[in-house]
Amino acid sequence: MNTKSEIIQISGPAVIAKGMTGTRMLDIVKVGKEGLVGEIIRLDGDTAFIQVYEDTWGLRVGEPVISTNEPLTVELGPGLLGGVFDGIQRPLHSIEDKAGSFIKRGVAVDILPRDKKWAFKPTVKPGDTVEQGDVLGLVQETPTLEHRILCPPGVSGAIAEAKEGEFLVTDPVVTLEDGTPLSMMQKWPVKMGRPVKEKLPPTEPFITGQRIFDTLFPIAMGGSATIPGGFGTGKTVVEQTLAKFSNADVIVYVGCGERGNEMTDVLTEFPELEDPRTGGPLMDRTVLVVNTSNMPVAAREASIYTGITLAEYYRDMGYSVALMADSSSRWAEALREISSRLEEMPGEEGYPTYLATRLAAFYERSGRVACLGKGNRIGAVTIVAAVSPPGADFSEPVTQISQRVAGALWALDSSLAFRRHFPSVNWNRSYTLYYDLLKEWFDKEIGRDWTTQRTEMMALLQKDADLQEIVQLVGPDSLQDSERLILEASRMVREGFLQQNAFSEVDGSCSLQKQRWVLKALLTFYEEAEKLVAKNIPLQSILDLPVRERISTLKEVPDEGFEDHCKGLLDEMADRMGELTPEGEQ
Ligand code: ADP
Ligand code: ADP
Ligand code: MG
Repeated sequence: MNTKSEIIQISGPAVIAKGMTGTRMLDIVKVGKEGLVGEIIRLDGDTAFIQVYEDTWGLRVGEPVISTNEPLTVELGPGLLGGVFDGIQRPLHSIEDKAGSFIKRGVAVDILPRDKKWAFKPTVKPGDTVEQGDVLGLVQETPTLEHRILCPPGVSGAIAEAKEGEFLVTDPVVTLEDGTPLSMMQKWPVKMGRPVKEKLPPTEPFITGQRIFDTLFPIAMGGSATIPGGFGTGKTVVEQTLAKFSNADVIVYVGCGERGNEMTDVLTEFPELEDPRTGGPLMDRTVLVVNTSNMPVAAREASIYTGITLAEYYRDMGYSVALMADSSSRWAEALREISSRLEEMPGEEGYPTYLATRLAAFYERSGRVACLGKGNRIGAVTIVAAVSPPGADFSEPVTQISQRVAGALWALDSSLAFRRHFPSVNWNRSYTLYYDLLKEWFDKEIGRDWTTQRTEMMALLQKDADLQEIVQLVGPDSLQDSERLILEASRMVREGFLQQNAFSEVDGSCSLQKQRWVLKALLTFYEEAEKLVAKNIPLQSILDLPVRERISTLKEVPDEGFEDHCKGLLDEMADRMGELTPEGEQ
């Protein structure tokens, strides 16, 4: 059918071929004599517009293009965790093995290791009937994660045989009565979301261990956040800190290189990270999808879809998965480059007009869901995507669209980063749409004061911001003690609560209960000081109390026994402040 196909134009990663009758949109094609992997992204009569996932150097007009008649798919099964893949899921290590240290073009590789055996324990027996999403058996994929082998979408029937033992991912482990063999591996087209029973309201928080996010701008498990920020504001640090400390079971980290060596850092650093939950390697529950900037742009465009499909697969087993994307701007730029090579009509800032739909479709694949199959499994995919607006100008299209489609905005601020206030989250610009959904969870699991304290802190920060404007105009000397107290208390909250050093042994991650107690101590100090100031006690004598310093540095106190420590400190504070109160007024 494709015998007359012929390349008529080549422009970088974009190739146009005619004679493509019978092919479909999104078909994967083998381009040229070397069989480079490409994807049909537009069809016009029998002319196909193709993005090629590999370097097109040396490709010639006139060479053939053969359709595989299949869309871009990923292989799903045991062996993904700990893996490092490129944007079209070619394992980086094994391509290195096969073709030297560079990915050689046109090399067809198996994605999941074909020579590794996995111990499969069936959870079904002959005579059982299964349908899509049912658990067929279990494999201990890594020490931390039990891989649930699922009946693939669209498959159902009665079980004829279920084997126990050591098998390759391609071996049939379960056979249906109609003869259908099922192995531990399945395939899925990346551009299509995997089916679920139903989407559920996201009512539990995605806990990050970072105070500014958990307390002020929490997102839900199954929610999404966008993190725009200029160069050096800490986007990558946030992504990696959340990969390490968030309460997701599985991490899919999509790295789209900002600078050439940044992804090399990811590749060398990630395998060394320790999982704070187990002490084992973090890679035991992580998949890396990595594109360095020297890899072809089209593979970068695909990496986001590959990543989210891997995330959905673990979600379908009933796990909470976090998809970290750094940076989605590089993905959008890949889209723009290919679109312009194909001479499509450009939209805002040269991005294709479908940028918004594509971004929305990506964020739409986050969610908390009831999984297909028996057993009422609930899974979630949470998306946290960094955006790198050129010149930190948040009015550019990728930032604007991401803000509209994500459930939370964590806006990083260059001036805060410059002052080394990290995380450099600007609390005036940032917001979350999840708080109302999560409030009940915080009430029940942490305490009703979680929400009241949050409100009080926001009010304090707001009062501070208003006062700062006055100070700008008239200088700090004209302020009364009650106003100076606001500035001091808010400074204590900024430094003692909102600032958090991601690299600190103790403070890198902070439990919700510790967050609650640290904030309680800071706010109690503020309230009590306010009362004293109202009684004309000089502010300076309150600020000079040694107990104040201990409250400001509470975050450095380890988690264990924190609550008791904090209560003790609050008692001491009450005593010391009591001593300042004039006789007879206590
Ligand atoms: P971006 O990805 O936005 O360009 P990075 O994440 O690479 O920025 O951060 C730049 C630098 O800022 C880091 O190398 C680190 O020194 C500092 N930094 C960022 N976030 C934090 C944090 N939470 N704690 C301590 N240092 C931080
Ligand atoms: P100071 O020098 O008094 O400690 P800063 O330089 O840290 O104060 O902050 C100066 C101003 O920036 C204040 O108005 C403060 O409210 C504001 N600010 C500080 N951090 C943030 C933030 N994360 N988001 C928004 N505004 C902030
Ligand atoms: Mg970065």
